[in-house]
This record gives sequence, structure tokens and C-alpha cells, in this order.
Amino acid sequence: MAKCKGCGAPIVFIGTPEGRSIPCDAEQVLYWARPRATGKVVTPNGIVVSCDLQGDPKLATGIGYKPHWASCPKAGQFKRKKS
Ligand SMILES: [Zn+2]
Repeated sequence: MAKCKGCGAPIVFIGTPEGRSIPCDAEQVLYWARPRATGKVVTPNGIVVSCDLQGDPKLATGIGYKPHWASCPKAGQFKRKKS
């Protein structure tokens, strides 16, 4: 398992259909898909979904990963570097 260079949290890289990989918190979360919701989750097959992150577990859309930049205390340090 990878670790965030900024804060040391365990992260996983989820590959997207476009061939990018998105650093996400290693812990899976339930999500409730909702257009224009402010939350974002990455599904295990790499689709970024607008969603709520709280709701009735019985009605959850599925399980995904929270993009790590949303929770990383050091997120400002590793926004897309120009290569
Ligand atoms: Zn971090």
C-alpha cells in the first residue's frame, strides 16, 4: 500500500478508464450518488461520482474511495505538479 507523501496516510491509486490514477484514501466508504452533490467519490473502476457521503446504508449506491486531496491536510502541497 502506498503512503501519501504529504501526510503519511495510507492511500490507494485507483486507475481510471482514461489511464490516469487517482490517489484515494485507502478506506472504502459508502456513497449515495446524487447529481451536483458536493461530495466526490471514485468507484473501484475509476469513475468519479458526485455524491453524498452520508445516508441510509440500505439505500447506498455502492462503495467507493474518497479522493485523498479532499481529506489530506497537506493537499495544497501536491496539487498537480507540472512535469
Ligand atoms: Zn495526504
